Amino acid sequence: MRAVKVACSGSLLRGGPWAHRQGYSGDILAEIVAVAALICIDPGHGTAAGVGSQLEPIGPGTSVTRIRDGGGTAGEAAVALAIARRTAALLRAQGYAVVLTRTADGYRGGNADRARTCNRRHAALMLRIHADGSTDPSQHGASTLVPASRTGWTDDIYAASGRAGRLVQATLVAATGALDRGVVERSDLTGFNWADVPAVLVETGFLTIPGERARLQSASYQLRVARGLAAGVRAFVGRPPPAGG
Ligand SMILES: [Zn+2]
Repeated sequence: MRAVKVACSGSLLRGGPWAHRQGYSGDILAEIVAVAALICIDPGHGTAAGVGSQLEPIGPGTSVTRIRDGGGTAGEAAVALAIARRTAALLRAQGYAVVLTRTADGYRGGNADRARTCNRRHAALMLRIHADGSTDPSQHGASTLVPASRTGWTDDIYAASGRAGRLVQATLVAATGALDRGVVERSDLTGFNWADVPAVLVETGFLTIPGERARLQSASYQLRVARGLAAGVRAFVGRPPPAGG
């Protein structure tokens, strides 16, 4: 959203010299800005051996650190990447621009770097995809984590992230029928605290429940999850303008 604000404050939307040279009206220029809105998808985990165990500050200017990547639940990196790819394909087919923070295993950064990738691209939304794990065998269902508000870190993205989280959680549950575990605010997640763009983290289900694990590893359920996530993105970001329109 910050990117749109920047673009709107320049001469572009006011129909400055560049716009007049190009012969664009204000409406068309607004559409160009909308086309530029980009979804940054972050498939969780999958960090290179030796990199994930390193520590990084959980936010700017703090000595509080957290491990870059504990690896997640067994099988989580692959499930997150598969769902991310399917979600990216659906969004691209609907006309959105999409970037993925990683497209394979062996990511050589931390969660701060993942956030920076989305910040640099001025993403309309950072969509982090994960799956849950628990030693309690009764735990199942899907939840969406959003940043808690902390002045200087997340206060600027708090409201928009919360709105995105509620929309994504609702569309994910509607598309999958998963148990709705709700939207949860977190102050301790590095990938949120470094984000300058709205960010949500979807816990798509529990890999520690045999039935849910099998579903999350199946192409058909991954597609349902992806459809739910894409619908949530669309509800939050808005419909992209038609190609060539
Ligand atoms: Zn995870």
